[in-house]
Order: sequence, then C-alpha cells, then structure tokens
Amino acid sequence: MATLVANGTVVTTTGTLQADILIKDDAIVAVGRRIDRSGDPKIIDASGCFVLAGGIDVHTHCNLTVGNETVSDGFFYGSVAAAHGGTTCFVEHPGFGPAGCGLHHQIALYRQQADREVIIDYGLHGVVQQVDKNILQDIASLPQRGIASLKVYLTYSGRLRDDEIIEVLKAAHRAGVLVTFHAENHGIISSLTEELRQSGRQNDPAVFPQSRPDYGEAEAINRLIALARAAGDMPIYIVHLSTGSGLEIIRKAKQQGSEIYTETCPQYLLLTKECYRQPDHRGLAYIMAPPPRRQVDCDALWEGLADGTIDVVATDHCSFSLAQKLRRGKDDIFNTPGGIPGIETRVPLLFSEGVLKKRIDLQTFTRLTAANPARILGLAPQKGEITVGADADLMVLDPRQEKTLCPSCLHQQVDYTPFAGMTIQGWPTTVMQRGRVVIENENLKATRGTGSFVERKIHQS
Ligand SMILES: [Zn+2]
Repeated sequence: MATLVANGTVVTTTGTLQADILIKDDAIVAVGRRIDRSGDPKIIDASGCFVLAGGIDVHTHCNLTVGNETVSDGFFYGSVAAAHGGTTCFVEHPGFGPAGCGLHHQIALYRQQADREVIIDYGLHGVVQQVDKNILQDIASLPQRGIASLKVYLTYSGRLRDDEIIEVLKAAHRAGVLVTFHAENHGIISSLTEELRQSGRQNDPAVFPQSRPDYGEAEAINRLIALARAAGDMPIYIVHLSTGSGLEIIRKAKQQGSEIYTETCPQYLLLTKECYRQPDHRGLAYIMAPPPRRQVDCDALWEGLADGTIDVVATDHCSFSLAQKLRRGKDDIFNTPGGIPGIETRVPLLFSEGVLKKRIDLQTFTRLTAANPARILGLAPQKGEITVGADADLMVLDPRQEKTLCPSCLHQQVDYTPFAGMTIQGWPTTVMQRGRVVIENENLKATRGTGSFVERKIHQS
C-alpha cells in the first residue's frame, strides 16, 4: 500500500522545501518534486500546509496513580489526545513501584497496560527509587528490553542521595543508558513547605511557588553537574527546566564541554506564577512541580530554545482532574495531586507561540518537538526526521486552522486545560503513524492497541 503526501511544504531540521513524500508500508521511500505516481498511491493533499515529522513527547504520565488518585487518561485516551495534537510517539515516565521493587517491575506493569491500549508508538523510561546491588544489575539489563533511559528524582520519597546518583550514573553509562533528572532541592522544599503550613497559609494556592523557589532548581542543577563530573564526566538530562537561573548554569556548563541535555515544557514558556491567583481555589489546577515562574524566566527559556541551550520541549503531561485536585487540595494545597495535562497542545502551542510569533524558526521547531528527543533518547534514525528509510510518522499542519483552547474541544479526558482561552493559530489536521492514517481531517481513524512499544537505543557520540 502506497501513500503520497502531495503538494505540502516539507520541514526538516536542515531546510524547508516544496515536495511530495512517498510512503510504502510503514516507511518513507522518497521525498522530492514530481514523484512518479504510478501504482496509484492514496493521495493526501497537503496544499497550503506544512508537513513535519510527527511530534515526540518524551515526558508523559498517561498512566499514574499517586496515593488513591489515578490520572484520568490512561494509555488509550492519552495516546488519542497526543495524536490529535500531532504527536506520533511518546515516552512515558512510570510512577514509583511498591517499596523495594526492582527496575523491571514498573516496566513490565506499564507494558502490560499500554500494549493493548495505545494508538501511537511509545517507549518507557525506567525509574530508580532506591539503589542497591540488584538495581545496579537491573540497569545493565535495561537495553535488552529496549529501555535506553532512566529517571532519578532529587525530591519526593524515591529521591536518591548524591553518592547513589554517582553509582547510578556510572552503571547507566556502562550500559549505554541516559539518566534523566528531576532537579529540585528536597531539603529546601520540605522546610519551606513546613514553614508555610506552620503559618497557616496551606489553603492558599498562591503561596505554592514559595515552597519550590527558583534557587532550589538552580542548586540541584549545579549539584548534578558536579556529580556527573565526579562519576567521570557522564552525560545527564534535565527534565522540565523552569528557571532562567537554571538555564544560565546549563549554558555555562555546555560551553565548558559538559554533556548536558535539557528539556522544558509549554507551561514554563507560557504561564507565570500569577496562574495560582484565581477565585474558588481554581489555582489548584496549576499545582505542578516545578511551578511556573516569572515572565523573565519565560523569556529566558524562549531564548534558550532559540540558541540551542534547551534541546527538547516535552510536556510532563499528567491529567489529574480539577475535581481531584479540589477534593484533595482545598484544605492543604500540598496534598494536591500534581501535574497538568498538555500532551495534545504541545505541538500547536509551540507552533503558534513560537514559530508564528518569530521566537523560533521552523527548523528549531521540528528539532525541539521531534528530531532532538528522537536523537537524544534513542528513537533515531527510525523516528524524528523526514528522511528516506525512516518510519512514516508525519503530521500535516494547517496554519490556517484557528482554535481557542477549552477542555471540551480537546481529547484529553480531563475537565480543564491550563491554557484555556488561548487562541492558537495552526493545528495538525492529518497525522500518520508508520504509514497508517491515525487522524484524518481531525477525525480519529486508529483503533485501540494499534500502536507499538518501540525499543530505544542511544547511539553514543
Ligand atoms: Zn514528570
């Protein structure tokens, strides 16, 4: 079965060209002008549209339970929402498993839950919640199961000590596994949280950012750079960077030769801490860690995207509903299940707010949303770029489409969007996964379980 995506403006990391794309089975077989149409391929007319590599969201929590609360998406609706927003592959961060469990516990569980649900391809990160001999052995066996990266937390109950982080970095490097870090200083957070509770302000969402200050992120990043050095100059990956001060440290470290990859998310580019000041506790909708910061931080992060200091825009998608957040957090904001939904809006927001507002160009856009995450986290050369031989994971983005965001016009199974009221120019109208049309003219065409687990392998430089 052949398909021709015709007459579009094809965007790659190296340029933009008027071209057709010929797809046979699940791969791209030709990119160019006036491709031979013999054999009667199915034609997808992309006139007036951009044709881009499908989005890759390398930071999601489509399936997460914290305490008694479970996110509302699950893998089916999470992947449906992703596809509607132009994303054709995601890499899920599993939650912590039962105390003392090995690394493969959560991976096996998540595979079991995802394989029969997803409509697009997906991968899994590992998550380290304690360090012992068994865990270090588990790290060595991750690549055999297609897992090329790990998550380590510097805060929460599963956080690691500095010496443990060094051990993990060494073991991961031997195995060819990249370690990703949630970088916030735990001691600062717990003591400031306690102070806010003592002063009786734990029912005011507006004080939430005070419990997780920007200098806590900067300290953690600084420390991680030192730990990576102590481990023997190991590469590290910082998830959801939120501050200009953290960015400055990373920029300097990169200039001095550190291999440090950085991800941010739309919420840190487009929201500020003012989001917490809303009537009727609605600020609880925005409880996430780290919190959005000041406008100067947003501006700095946009600059970091444009100059290449930040490599990846992901989402940290985590659909606890506003109802759940209100139920758990009304009396004590620090009990609110954290996270916001965003898997569906990432690509359109970055196109509308980034490309159309001339903060980034089209090449940077496709790099941040597809090529870089694919390369850094082991999905390339199969995914992330429009090139002959790659998976035919594509989106046709129509810049004429306009949408004002609201919960009911999205497919995320959640009663709010943190970006409600924003008008977006440009939307992915047709989305293909390995040659299959999953979204056609904004309608879902794929069925449950038709996506696949992707084995990732990092090609070390
Ligand atoms: Zn996360």
